[in-house]
Amino acid sequence: MIEYKNGIHIKDTGLWLDARRKTDFCFVSHAHADHAVKHAQILATKETARLFEHRYGEAKFKLLEYNRPKRLNGVKVELFPSGHTLGGAQILIEKAGTRIVYTGDFRLRKSLTAQKAQVKKCDILIMESTFGRPHYKFPPSSQVHAQMAEFAQENLTKGKVPVFLAYSLGKAQETMKILSNRGFKLSVHGAIYNLARIYEEFGVRFKNYEHYEAGNLEGKVLIAPPSVRKSSMIERIPRKRIAVLTGWALDKGARYFNGVDEAIPLSDHADFAELLEYVKKAQPKKVYTVHGFAEFVEFLREKGFDAEQLKRSTRIESALSKEVQTNYDLFA
Ligand SMILES: [Zn+2]
Repeated sequence: MIEYKNGIHIKDTGLWLDARRKTDFCFVSHAHADHAVKHAQILATKETARLFEHRYGEAKFKLLEYNRPKRLNGVKVELFPSGHTLGGAQILIEKAGTRIVYTGDFRLRKSLTAQKAQVKKCDILIMESTFGRPHYKFPPSSQVHAQMAEFAQENLTKGKVPVFLAYSLGKAQETMKILSNRGFKLSVHGAIYNLARIYEEFGVRFKNYEHYEAGNLEGKVLIAPPSVRKSSMIERIPRKRIAVLTGWALDKGARYFNGVDEAIPLSDHADFAELLEYVKKAQPKKVYTVHGFAEFVEFLREKGFDAEQLKRSTRIESALSKEVQTNYDLFA
């Protein structure tokens, strides 16, 4: 029913899911860089289409709204929220009486800027498992948000510039929401600013923020993508204190690895418990994993699920190892 060739293909339908090479017709779950392929036609939500075209240029889309099933290529398909980014979607495909769900990247915890994830019962579940090891247990959101606010306030009080590094699509807008809701004045990197304006087109509003300008950071919190950590933009800021926002903050050495003063576990992915919770709720007969740690399937088998890795990836020892740098979403 399913095959993996640099992307998931639902046999006999011509429908691909987040394929990494160009196809005729592909579902793109969200507009992160690892999904940025211009297929002949892309199946996506309107939010993802807008964000995708902003980042990667014009493309041809077939738009679907959440929870509006439709027949396409001989199967019934339905998109529903993944909780990962604004417009981020999972897909349910019904083919010859079999229900197949592909999650894309997801999180079950509530996001301040993305629609809340749903879980649907299915026969075959194809899921991400980025944080598929038991020690990835994220603290409650309220605690993470408080830690972010504390880092900002403490450094502002000392006359320093708090800098948060957050992936520009999704994580950065959530960071803006968390900090501006708590009254902080924000200066945001251009890439993040432009994406925030698109979020606002879809009704997600932010307070107290402006486009970053060099030398104008007095009393403000700066939000920038991790990719600019070593750039002159960051290097030139005097009296800065930098925090990276990533689920990998739970690993020892995360601060050192990122060259920052603090690592705070704000993630837009599910942690280990959420991955298991998802599978228990979906009650699939078969689970395939596509990202993350190989041994997550072992944990699922222990719980009685028939699980297998769809995409072979190297078994890795440390979240900070070379394999992570190349195979995994570093800023998850
Ligand atoms: Zn993603």
